[in-house]
Amino acid sequence: MKSCTNHPGKTAYSICNNCKEDFCEDCLDEGKDFYYCKKEECQQKLKEELSSVYIPKYVVCHNCGSELELSEEEKEIRKVHCPECESLIDFNFTPPKILNKENYTEILSTLNQGDIALIKSILDDGNIDYFILGENFFGCETIIGTGKNFS
Ligand SMILES: [Zn+2]
Ligand SMILES: [Zn+2]
Ligand SMILES: [Zn+2]
Repeated sequence: MKSCTNHPGKTAYSICNNCKEDFCEDCLDEGKDFYYCKKEECQQKLKEELSSVYIPKYVVCHNCGSELELSEEEKEIRKVHCPECESLIDFNFTPPKILNKENYTEILSTLNQGDIALIKSILDDGNIDYFILGENFFGCETIIGTGKNFS
């Protein structure tokens, strides 16, 4: 039996997912999937684990109900494009934000990455609600739209 790094007499309960040392129950904090010890850098990892939004491999489009399989890239950017109804589901928001073409006004449709970058910076500066469709699909026409309700 291994014993706790901090308490030599106590039986280790689990390892810290960050430093991989053995610890007793008192020395561990539980994250979503793993345990972390009380060390500052390990607590930092715990915080990251707790703040990350869990994204399953399959999601149901909140707009049309079709089942979508997420690619690694989509998990990375936390956005899923539904080919059925052309919605973009953005998991960076809780609850996930549904960006549907119908709710937005198309302001630009372009293949020019320079234009896209420029417009994004303008919209970001103005705190304007917008979405970009097709940004990550090579050779795909990119459409930038803004929310109809913004004034
Ligand atoms: Zn640790
Ligand atoms: Zn301990
Ligand atoms: Zn859909």
